[in-house]
Order: sequence, then structure tokens, then C-alpha cells
Amino acid sequence: MITLKDIQDARQRIQSIVYETPILQSEQLSKLCGNQLFLKAEHLQKTGSFKIRGASNMVIHAVENGAQHVTTASSGNHGQAVAFVADKYGVPSTIVVPENASQCKINAIIGYNGQVEKCGTTSIERLPRAMQIANEQNGIYIPPYDDPLIMAGQGTVGLEILQQLHNIDAIVVPIGGGGLISGILTAIKETNPAIQIIGVEPALANDTYLSLQNKKITAISATNTIADGLRTNQPGDLTFPVLTKYLDDLVLVSEDEIRMAFSFVLERTKQLIEPSSATTVAAVLYNKLNIQGKNIVTLISGGNVDLENVQGLIVDTAKFSQVNC
Ligand SMILES: *Cc1c(COP(=O)(O)O)cnc(C)c1O
Repeated sequence: MITLKDIQDARQRIQSIVYETPILQSEQLSKLCGNQLFLKAEHLQKTGSFKIRGASNMVIHAVENGAQHVTTASSGNHGQAVAFVADKYGVPSTIVVPENASQCKINAIIGYNGQVEKCGTTSIERLPRAMQIANEQNGIYIPPYDDPLIMAGQGTVGLEILQQLHNIDAIVVPIGGGGLISGILTAIKETNPAIQIIGVEPALANDTYLSLQNKKITAISATNTIADGLRTNQPGDLTFPVLTKYLDDLVLVSEDEIRMAFSFVLERTKQLIEPSSATTVAAVLYNKLNIQGKNIVTLISGGNVDLENVQGLIVDTAKFSQVNC
């Protein structure tokens, strides 16, 4: 398991690359939720998501240890982050993407000087290809979540929150493969265990929820939740034990609740966030946490959304009703 020290080391290693992102507030959203709400704005992070934290921690470490090339198998935020950091450190990168990856995501990778290789449509096809390239190029494969350096890098956002805000009662974090939340859990629980950490998954991608219930890693079949950063089928071998040890609660949100939260954030704060991030606001808006009158941080994990998809995410916020209140 990673430790607080790993996260402090990561913070040192990546500090010249990542931004310290701001904490945003909205009186209106806070009122609606019945809590004082703080939005940790990682959608304003370089490359548009927190993924740069773990990616830079692992890429810098690899380059310092002689890697001459880096590769990964993601067309999304992780792939963009790896291409960006590799470019900064002057090593070539190859990002293996599905045949049907959107041109806008491919362009983002090319914009960071990453080499794009198309391969199949599933991660089962892409992963071995990425590993093969790493082997051929005397390089290293950078996994999206299940690695101690990735988890420690993501945990730096937890240390940052602790410095920016005092008297926080809870932090709400989205869960895909669990890299982000396992880093935050380690950072927070090894510093101030009184702060509650609550995970959120879309009900359509409830693999970690089921795994915690079954007390063992449990896979779900492919899902197409609009929260595309959270479509992983199972928690990681390294991330899951951290959740088992520290997580206070895990709540589920529906697709409609995600759309409503997305729309509220856009309308009230003028921030364009991606659906994966809107899950945390949805959890608080719909009172899934059963917490009132407290200081709550929602992690806004990223803001990369294809503009052509925005229209389909907007709903009428006047129709909001807090069914769970
Ligand atoms: C990757 C990602 C997540 C989930 O992070 P994990 O470490 O896989 O749990 C959440 N939100 C966004 C925007 C992401 O890119």
C-alpha cells in the first residue's frame, strides 16, 4: 500500500508541472444542498483533468530511471496527460487508441506531440499492443490507475485541499478504477482521519460498489454511462485494498441526476465540467450523503467534454426536486 510519504514525494516531483487549482464556491448551490459546498477545480488543471498528477509522477520517475519512450492505451484524459508530460520531458510517446476514438481526442494527443496508433475497439486488444510498443522502444507502459506512482500522484490533490481549506467535514470523489480516491484516502486519512471520504459511482457503472458489498473485486460487463471517465469494469488490485481500509461511504447516482448536476454547475457557476465530475455534485444535490449543515468538498475531476455532446447534457434546472430529502 502507498503511504503519505509517497504522496509527499510525488508532490515534490510534479510541482513544476501541475497547477495548484482553485477552490470555487457558489452560494446558490450551497443553499440547494443544505451544506457549504467547495468545488476543487481540477477541470482547470493542465490537460483539463487531474490525470496529469499521476501521469507526471510516473513519467518523470521512469525518465529519471532511463526510460526512452512512454506508452499507454487510453484515448481519454489519461492518454492526453501522458502525451503532455512526455513532451515536456523530451521523450517520445505512443498512445494506443480505439479505432473509433473521436477526432477531437486524437487531435488533443497530437497537439501534445504524442504518436497515435489505432488498435481494435476494446482495452483487451489495446493493452497488449501498448505493452509490446513499450518493450520494442526500450520504454515503459503507464497504466491509468493501478500503480503506486499513479495513485500517489493523484493523492497530491488531497494534500492540496488540506492546505487550501480548514474545517472540512467531507470530500466527495468520483470512482473509476480507483486511482484518484485511493490517493486521496491515503493523503487525508493519514493526516486527519476525522474528514469523511465518500466515493461516487454512476449506478450504471457500480463495480466498486458491488466489490465492496462482496468484499472481493467484482467485475461488471461493459457500460455506457455518460460519465465516460468512470466506465471501468472493476477496481484495481492495488486500489481496492485502500478503499476497503479507509472509505467511509460509497453512493450511486443516476444518469438523470448527473445531467441535472452538470446543468446546475454550468448555469450557476459558469463552469464547463465533464459528466464524470458532475457525479460528485449530483451526490450532494440529491442528498445521497445524508449530511446537512457541513463543509463539503466535491472533487471536480475534469472538464474535457466534446462540445457536440454538451446539448445532450443540458436539462431544465427548474425541474429539480430533491426526491431524497
Ligand atoms: C479518470 C477519471 C476519473 C476516475 O479516476 P480513477 O482514478 O480511474 O478512479 C474521474 N474523473 C475524470 C474526469 C477522469 O478522467
